[in-house]
Amino acid sequence: MFDVTIIGSGPGGYVAAIRCAQLGLKTALIEKYDTLGGTCLNVGCIPSKALLDSSEHFHNAQHTFAEHGIDLDTPPRVNLTQMIARKNKVVSDTCAGVSFLMKKNKITLFTGFGSFVAANQVKVTAKDGTETLIDTKNVIIATGSKPIAPPSFNYDKKRIITSTEALNLPEVPKRMIVVGAGVIGLELGSVYARLGTQIDVVEFADKMLPTMDADMGKELQKCLKKLGFNFYYQHKVQSVTSDGEKTTLVAENAKDGSLLTLEADYTLVAIGRRPYTAGLAAENAGISLDERGRIPVNEHLQTVVPTIYAIGDVVKGAMLAHKAEEEGVFVAELLAGQKPHINYNLIPGVIYTWPEVAAVGKTEAELKAEGRAVKIGKFPFKALGRARASMDTDGLVKVISDATTDEILGVHAVGPRVADVIMEAVVAMEFRASAEDIARICHPHPTFTEALKEAALDATERRALHI
Ligand code: FAD
Repeated sequence: MFDVTIIGSGPGGYVAAIRCAQLGLKTALIEKYDTLGGTCLNVGCIPSKALLDSSEHFHNAQHTFAEHGIDLDTPPRVNLTQMIARKNKVVSDTCAGVSFLMKKNKITLFTGFGSFVAANQVKVTAKDGTETLIDTKNVIIATGSKPIAPPSFNYDKKRIITSTEALNLPEVPKRMIVVGAGVIGLELGSVYARLGTQIDVVEFADKMLPTMDADMGKELQKCLKKLGFNFYYQHKVQSVTSDGEKTTLVAENAKDGSLLTLEADYTLVAIGRRPYTAGLAAENAGISLDERGRIPVNEHLQTVVPTIYAIGDVVKGAMLAHKAEEEGVFVAELLAGQKPHINYNLIPGVIYTWPEVAAVGKTEAELKAEGRAVKIGKFPFKALGRARASMDTDGLVKVISDATTDEILGVHAVGPRVADVIMEAVVAMEFRASAEDIARICHPHPTFTEALKEAALDATERRALHI
């Protein structure tokens, strides 16, 4: 009898397993694939960031080396096979690291498909059909998500693809259509745009990244247009077809009803992800799904069955690896009798385009809708010495604080390495700092973090120093 059985080894599941084991619980982990780490390590965060880094090097070699005083004898060429091989090595090393951690923490791993027989019994079906029954006091469902690809998109994995295939293309496309101006579409679109692909983004909404602070979307759009992206907003896709060589997309302009027809070598469908529960037989445990296919949970991430919990992409909330990890730790500590807490308002969001986008807390529009009086401070990277030194002058940092107390309510940034800079804001907000607190903290010079200090100074008393 296990104390806890976790179904799914993504960042939610494997982190939950480690924390359960650390707390002395007898822990089983079930994963249907041969490698651990789930979407994030195998076909998500890690491989996409590996390709984003490689493609950014290529882009810089082509476009900024000469200005830096580095002359290349021959123009740089893309070796996509090597680029993808390096990415695969990063993935396999990282997945192997997770396997090591499972052994180190004495977690029992079952490789196979997990499904409920009853609330306290899970069946594991291996690839060869062998079945193993696991009796368990508690279960954590961490089965993650899969890309959405409606039938009308004719997803064929060859020319009409999702992010999974986009991480392994056999060639650099001449043209690629990206359906969806969200995080995944813009990141993977950036990879190929830097390698020379013409990217056409087709989006139903009237702007990119509609849930982010509006200033960030506008700024990123300018940068991506410079990279050669075309954007077709307010277009509803009617059909996507492939003749095996190229794809054709037809979309209706929501404003005037006219039809847009685009052709490309590939169409990347990046319109979101859906919770993955196929074959789980949650109903055998007495659990039904909500209207969006998610496992319903209460504020303790507990399902209607008190001994069954669910975490990560398969439950409500942001589909982010670090959110899944926090929830994994939360449930483990709850099972061990502790009183954990997650501050969902302070889960940062990052987009790894270049410049990067990062945010924590509320947007200006959200605060306005709440009727909250706020102060806003901004600082552009073009006024920052560190950014000029590295020729990364696009973007800005925006700090929003309460008009009366000066407590920081949101920080939003587009710019170089803001994925890392945002952590300072997260820490400050966790301790309920004021904008003036950040403004008065000594920041190392020259660093990108000074942009946050300057924006905080601007929010405090309009007293930014370098603008
Ligand atoms: P998953 O990682 O999806 O893992 C679920 C696991 O459960 C899988 O391994 C699956 O095989 C297994 N499983 C499912 N059902 C069963 C079953 N019945 N039996 C056995 N095993 C089962 N997030 C970020 O925070 N930062 C990023 O930079 C980022 N980049 C991304 C880039 C891309 C291209 C994509 C697609 C996603 C990205 N994400 C990113 C999102 C992130 O990958 C997910 O939020 C995260 O992986 C969710 O973790 P999870 O543990 O809930 O599920």
